[in-house]
Order: sequence, then C-alpha cells, then structure tokens
Amino acid sequence: MPRLRSKAASKPKRNGPKVVRKSASMKRSADAEALVRARAEARAAIEEARRSHARLRDAIDLLPQGIVVLDAEGRYILWNKEYADIYKRSADLFKTGVKLEDTLRIGVARGDYPEAAGREAEWLAERLSLLANPRGRHEQRLSDGRTIMIEEGRTSDGGIIGLRVDITEMKRREASFRLLFDSNPVPMFVYALNGQRILAVNDAAIEHYGFARSALLGMALGDLHDPSELADLALLDNESTEEQAGRTWRQYKADGTAIDVALLSSRMTYEEAPAVLIAAIDITERKRAEARIAFMAHHDALTSLPNRILLRSRMEEMLNRMRRHGNGIATLCIDLDNFKSVNDSLGHPAGDLLLRLVGGRLRGLLRDQDMVARLGGDEFAIVQADVSDPQEVVTLAERLLAEVSQPYDLDGHQVTIGASVGIAFAPGDGDDADRLLKSADMAMYRAKADGKGAYRFFESEMDARAQARRRLELDLRLALQNEGLELHYQPLVELASGEITGYEALIRWPHAERGMIPPCDFIPVAEETGLIAPLGAFVLRQACSDAAKWPDHIKVAVNLSPLQFKTGNLFVQVKDALEEAGLSPKRLELEITETLLLERSEQILATLHALRALGVRISMDDFGTGYSSLSYLRSFPFDKIKIDRSFVHDLGANADSQAIVRAIVSLGTSLGITITAEGVETETDLAHLRAEGCDEGQGYLFAKARPQSDILASQAKRHKKQVA
Ligand code: C2E
Ligand code: MG
Ligand code: MG
Repeated sequence: MPRLRSKAASKPKRNGPKVVRKSASMKRSADAEALVRARAEARAAIEEARRSHARLRDAIDLLPQGIVVLDAEGRYILWNKEYADIYKRSADLFKTGVKLEDTLRIGVARGDYPEAAGREAEWLAERLSLLANPRGRHEQRLSDGRTIMIEEGRTSDGGIIGLRVDITEMKRREASFRLLFDSNPVPMFVYALNGQRILAVNDAAIEHYGFARSALLGMALGDLHDPSELADLALLDNESTEEQAGRTWRQYKADGTAIDVALLSSRMTYEEAPAVLIAAIDITERKRAEARIAFMAHHDALTSLPNRILLRSRMEEMLNRMRRHGNGIATLCIDLDNFKSVNDSLGHPAGDLLLRLVGGRLRGLLRDQDMVARLGGDEFAIVQADVSDPQEVVTLAERLLAEVSQPYDLDGHQVTIGASVGIAFAPGDGDDADRLLKSADMAMYRAKADGKGAYRFFESEMDARAQARRRLELDLRLALQNEGLELHYQPLVELASGEITGYEALIRWPHAERGMIPPCDFIPVAEETGLIAPLGAFVLRQACSDAAKWPDHIKVAVNLSPLQFKTGNLFVQVKDALEEAGLSPKRLELEITETLLLERSEQILATLHALRALGVRISMDDFGTGYSSLSYLRSFPFDKIKIDRSFVHDLGANADSQAIVRAIVSLGTSLGITITAEGVETETDLAHLRAEGCDEGQGYLFAKARPQSDILASQAKRHKKQVA
C-alpha cells in the first residue's frame, strides 16, 4: 500500500492552471500527511486495542472464576488463567480459533469427564445442546474428582461467554451436611430465615412428628407450635446454645400429641439463601421423669398423699399466713390402732390397701386449704388451716374417728380398725412445724395410752415428761456402753426347809445424779427404744457367769421381756450364755409374764419349748395380775408359778388374797408346778404361806437383792457353817 500511494503521487495533471497545478501538488502532500496521520492513528488504535486487550486479560486473569469467550462459531477467543487451571488436563488443547466442541470431543475420548463414561455420544450431544442454547447453570464432574459449576450466556455478537467455578469444596460440605442432616436421629429442619417456610426436613423429623414430608415442607415452623409461642420463635435466632438448651417449647405432632422440645438453631446458607438449621430435641420424657421425681420427693409412694417434707412446707406457709392474719392452725397426728395385726394376719398387700383406703377417707374429710400427709407406717397427719375456734378441730377429730372406724373391705375381708389422734394448736403449742408435729405426736401417744380410739389435745406437761424420757434413754444408752448397769440377786427360799434354792437376778442402775434408778422406770424405756436387746443379753450373760461361781445346787432366775422373743435369736443367746459360763441349763430359770402369751404366737411357744427341751426351767412371773391366767397355764407346761406380791402382801388380813393363794397352790400341786410367793415381808405372811403349802418364798423377810460379792460371801459363810 505505501508503494501504490507513492505511484499516484508522481502521476502529472496535464490540464490544470498553474495555480491549480501548484495547489494540486499541495493537495497531494496534504493527502500524504493525512495518510501518515491515519496510519499513525491506526497504529495507535491497534496499540491501544492491544493494550486494552492485555488489560482485559490481566483483569480476567485476576478473577477467581474461570472465564471463556467463544465466537459465534464456538471458537476460542479468550480464556483466563483460572479457566486453564480448572481444565488443566485439557489446557494443551486451548488455542485461539480452536472449537470448544473439538476440545470436548478429545476430552471425552480420553476420559476427562467421568459422567460421560459409557454414554460418550449422548453426553457430548447434551453438552453441545446446552452450549448452543445456554440456559442457567449446570454442573460438570472432572476425572480428578472435582465438580465445576458452568454458567454460559450469549454475547451481543452471537458468541458465548462462559463462567466456571470450582465448587468441589462446597459440594463436599453440602454432602457431609446432607449426610449429617438426613441420617441424624434428632429431628431437624431447615427453615427459611425470611420465608416463614420449612425448606428441608430429615427422616427423623418425619417419623417423629408423623407428618408426610410434603406436608412438613409446606409449613411454617410456627405451625408445629402452640400459638402462644409464635412471637417467641423469633428469639431462637438470637439466643446462645445454652439459652436455647434451657428453654422448652411446646409442639404438636400430626396426631395432636403435645411434646416438649428444646430447639437448637444455627444460621446456615441453604440453596444460597440465608436459613436456620433447627434441631428439635424431644424432652417430653425427661420432663415427665423430672415431674415424677419432683412428685416422688414430695409424696408417699403407697398412698400418693403428700409426705412429711411437703406437709412441713405447707405448714410453714400456713404459719406465715397465721402471723399476718391471725387465725390459728391445728395439727392432728393420727396413728391407726392395731394396724399391725391386719398386716400380720392378712399380709402386707392387704395392709397396703388398708393404708390407701384410710388415706382416701382422710382426704375426703378436708377442705381445699387443709392437707393430709402420710408420715410413714400407719401414721398420718392433718393440718387444718384458719382455725378460729377449737371446736372446729373437735368436730374434725370426731368425724375422723367415726370415718376411719367404718369397716373396710380388703379383697373380701371385712376389717375394722380404729385410730388415736393427738392435736396441737398454733400458736399456743408451738409456732414452727416441727414443734407442732412433735406436740401433736405426744398427744397422740397419750390418746393411745388412754385406751386408743380417742383424740387428745397436747398439754405442756406431756412435753416435760417426754423430755425426761429422752434424757433417760440417752443416759441408759451410755450406761449400757460403759457397763454402768449391774445385777443384784434376791434369794428364793424353800419354805419347808428354809434353804436357799436360787437367786433372782434383778437389774440395778446406779445413776451418778439420780441415785439407784428402779427397773420399773427404765425397763419400759429400754423396751420402747430397742435398748432391751443389749440389756437383756447383758443380763443373761452376767447372770449365768455369776451363777457359775455359786454352789451347784443353787439356781439363777432371769427375767425376760416379751420383746427379747422378737429381736434376735433368744434360744441361741441363752444357749451361748450357758456355754460361755459353763453353767448347766438345769440351773437356769427364765421368768416370763402373761403379756408374752397374750399374742398367742406360734413362734414364741416354739422358742419356749426349745428352751425347755434344753433343760432350762420356765417360770410364770407376777401370776394373777393378768386377765386370763388359767388359759395361759394350759398353753405351756410351766415349771414354776410366782404369785404376785399384791396377793402376798398383808396375807394375814385379807381373806380374798388367802383364797387366791390357796387356789393357786392347789392348782400347782395338781399340775406339778412349783409355787413361789413373791413379796414375803413378814413372819405372818410366811406363816400363812407355809400353812397353805406354798413351796417357795421370796421377799424382804429373807433378804433384799444384793450384789454378787455379798452372795459369794454369804454362800461361803453357809458352806463354812455346814462344814463345821
Ligand atoms: P419381778 O420380776 O417381779 O421382781 C421382783 C421385784 O419385787 C423386784 O423389784 C424386787 O426387788 C421386788 N421385791 C422383792 N421382794 C420384795 C418385797 O418383799 N417387798 C416388795 N415391796 N418388793 C419386793 P425390782 O428389782 O424393782 O424389779 C422390778 C421388776 O423389774 C421385776 O419384777 C422385773 O419385772 C423387772 N426386772 C428387774 N430386773 C430385770 C431384768 O434384768 N430384765 C427384765 N426384763 N426385767 C427386769
Ligand atoms: Mg421376776
Ligand atoms: Mg414378779
């Protein structure tokens, strides 16, 4: 072109005037200038285009996505570094002017696209159809395991611009989320943050809530909830995990069942939209268990009545109200009379049923503001609120006694029982719950002692006595531990010969402050508190060991409490005491009273028979003071009867006593039982007893009970006398 242009410039212009000629040459040079300028401009434009192309390249190379531009025939025009990186296996194929279709074909042939395996032609056709008609996005797997997201669109000149994003990492995360979500045993929802819509649910949610997946997917999360909670649901997004775990929501299943759940939420992106992942942890059972535990902690398992703990807290509430409003409260302690015999004769299930029935009757007597509790065993308590007149309590106590003593049907057995009721008032008898309960309890014991089936009000003198008793119990426990108890021995004398046949062991408690405490003061305490077991064991062992030091023909008598037949194995205890002391069983007499036989227990009779078979003698003590002595004499072959000293005392002046003593002596003679008179104090008594033919005597006339040392000394003296 430059050559052509110079040719034209040298061609002469024949017909033009000079000026014209001159201007023609001027024109020629102007043209040349313009040409030069145009060439320079074109060069500059090309340079600029190259520069902007380079800038474009630089710019698109910086993009994190792969970019490719194809012309209208699908030939490569431009691609960036990321594009080449994404398709690094095919990068050698990318050249300007090469058709994408061809690179695809080669790639398919050498297995670059795992999705094409086995259906190469088909895959290629689909891919080319997408290329020809770009629509939205699609994914492409590469042979190295990566996933590429492809988005393509038309350029204004009919070409194609394509975007490639390596979404491998995102896909991996999505897959692990899916796995975690779908197979999670906890019901889970994906909930659109702005769309009031459940976007996804896992299988556990479908199973747990009982809705079809399609039904759940159409719902708002709030549709599962109690309407009252709807407003609060928004909070879910702002709470910490701890706050969420501590909050309970009420939801409903498809069948209408209400459940309590804890909802744990966390923000996420779901299908590129902000969403909330919610895990619903069903805590219905846990809440139910908690409620059960709370109930159990405050109620009695058998009767479902409140227990002592709940009663006490209700009493404290009532007492607080009383302090503000003035009206008093009454506490009633109720103990069933002879409940034990129902348990023993009909069995524990019947006993349990009876306690439930009694509980029901007691509850039926009360107003809403009162409370009945089971304190344990056959003991119940009632607190009556707002009592302004003691008569209200009397009315309640009387109705209570009448109601409880109505017959019960225990699985076909008609049973009647009674109750003893003790009543204490607040503020008069105490103004705290424990004190009131204790006072009512003391009054209840008084009611029992007074013959049962009655109610008694607390009196302050009961408290003083109870305290003295508690002190005594404490001291007795210490005395037992510190060997502070001792045995004294009172002789039993054969009336015909005046010889000592044996000694009765009588327990003595020398108390540091109170002097000698008589057994009638502390044996009952020992019996009530269970201390009778160690006390009885001590007496047996000590008496046997002391008697072993006496002459062989002298016996020892030991008193037994009925309770010793119930605690531990008395037979073994006696046998061990004899063996330990090396004492022949024939030298031991055990004294029992009629109260032991009152129960007509097979076990007690069996023990008595076993002891007797061992060679031990059994005596009936204090005979004549019980109710039906003669029948007891028939129930067991006693070796000795001891006539109670109330019949012996003043025998000379009392004709009735004489008749009774005579009858007993003749009974003994005919049954072959030794008869001993207790409480022989005077020569007159002795003369009468001798005249009636009584075998033995015991009493102050012969000797009071003396310590072992005295017995040993007097026995030694007698022995000396005999030898002399
Ligand atoms: P008990 O078995 O009837 O014992 C006789 C009681 O009468 C003794 O009272 C004795 O000291 C008293 N006594 C004896 N002779 C006379 C007398 O001439 N006139 C009067 N007024 N009393 C006389 P003690 O020792 O006070 O014992 C009372 C009761 O305590 C005993 O009555 C017995 O039932 C019980 N006891 C004593 N020691 C024991 C023991 O080791 N174990 C058990 N379980 N009870 C015991
Ligand atoms: Mg006795
Ligand atoms: Mg006696």
